Amino acid sequence: MQQKTLVMKFGGTSVGSADALISATQIIRDAQKDWIRIVVVTSAMSGVTNLLLDSANQIVGARSSRPVLGGEPPPLQDAENNLREKHFSAAEKLIKNKSLLEETKKEINALIQIFVNLCSAIQVLGEASPRALDAVASLGERMSLRLLTAVLNEAGIKAKGIEASEFIVTNSNFQNAHPDFHITKEKTQALLNPLLDEGNIVITTGFIGANAEGVITTLGRGGSDYTAAIIGSVLPANEVWIWTDVDGVMTTDPRIVSSAKTLSEISYGEIAELAYYGAKVLHPKTIRPVVDAGIGLRICNTFNPTHEGTRLTASGKKNGHVIKAVTAIQKQRLVTIEGRGMLGVPGVAARAFGAVASTKTSVPLITQASSEQSICFAVPSETAPSVLSALEKTFAHEIEEDDIDRVWSTDDVSIVTVVGAGMRHTPGVAGKVFSQLGNNGVNVLAIAQGSSEVSISLVVDANDTENAVRTLHELIVQ
Ligand code: ADP
Ligand code: ASP
Ligand code: MG
Repeated sequence: MQQKTLVMKFGGTSVGSADALISATQIIRDAQKDWIRIVVVTSAMSGVTNLLLDSANQIVGARSSRPVLGGEPPPLQDAENNLREKHFSAAEKLIKNKSLLEETKKEINALIQIFVNLCSAIQVLGEASPRALDAVASLGERMSLRLLTAVLNEAGIKAKGIEASEFIVTNSNFQNAHPDFHITKEKTQALLNPLLDEGNIVITTGFIGANAEGVITTLGRGGSDYTAAIIGSVLPANEVWIWTDVDGVMTTDPRIVSSAKTLSEISYGEIAELAYYGAKVLHPKTIRPVVDAGIGLRICNTFNPTHEGTRLTASGKKNGHVIKAVTAIQKQRLVTIEGRGMLGVPGVAARAFGAVASTKTSVPLITQASSEQSICFAVPSETAPSVLSALEKTFAHEIEEDDIDRVWSTDDVSIVTVVGAGMRHTPGVAGKVFSQLGNNGVNVLAIAQGSSEVSISLVVDANDTENAVRTLHELIVQ
């Protein structure tokens, strides 16, 4: 019997070439046999979002360093050519219908022209605001929407494209916008239901929304997974499937350890920790909407579609290993506030994190020694300078009085996290983890254990990252 509603999201590599688009088309065709209503969320073609953002950022840098009448070829021209070549070559390979091909190329060209215009505006202003960068970044998904919809139509699949900025309404926190689920639900149902009821497969853009004034926002890098979860939860859908370039959630990043294995099932708690601590395979915000709405989530491989991939379940399968997976989040710095005068002074931590929050930085890991003589936490490396200056300002008086000796940060470090729900009931896991690292020459700079006891996180020097992940992964596979 056919099930009702499925949302499928295709990642950048899954729509990144003519061959990938052929696989995606076949997957969509197959899903039509089992599902009555299908919504497809597409990412930008692989590499496109980076290209768009790098170009916009380079223009800001170039303005101050380049002579106005210099002879260098404009880097923008290269980006423009690249975008055209990437989208047009796939379109030309897959779309035989001449007018459909011409129309698709025209629409993509118009978006590339918007990119050029936005870059000119950025160049004139000498500044790329978060709002402008979102307008630029959104173009990748907007181009792939046109391409995928046309490819499906060419293949005889009744598909209608619609941009998610029409129905995902967010706040104005550009580059990391948060949806208003209430309005989004009304709009999504009002716009998508009629299209679905007419028998269309609805194709839409991942990653983007719009604020109440209709200005384009983005949900944060890697946010197309989140788009699929938002749509799944407000329609609502029975299942959300994330199509990517690996066989599901694995014991670690297969780019670091080639022997990593797929986990056939994973619990909510486990995937939440893995995603939060750096497993790029799923955007961390994806989990909550699907869990809250009781929707099935599956992660599967566009290039190996018969593999079952990973299913998210309430409890996760016990695979006999206490540690199920290892992950790493790189380019972090440890910030330490230290001084004997902090001992027993109330409110130091609150003021410290208030200062961090004022820089809009989120803190993935915190440790405090029991003597209260230091507070130590991790922040993304690029935010460290602004975090340090906010702390120095907040504690100017204490620093002056020598109650706080110093506020400082390390060089780049990584947070390596081992994950497994079985750790809660198994004594000695932390001991095993430390011995394994110690025996392999990895020095641990700080530790933290999640209160849910599903994970243990260790901070190591950036140069030790791969060694730490490999050596901890051996605890799973042996
Ligand atoms: P997409 O473009 O489909 O969204 P991403 O590149 O965002 O794909 O995520 C998939 C990648 O995540 C994989 O190619 C893999 O290298 C990486 N990855 C990191 N950790 C894991 C893990 N534990 N399991 C699977 N993949 C992982
Ligand atoms: N294209 C966006 C990015 O590269 C969103 C995504 O792929 O999920 O971040
Ligand atoms: Mg992704």
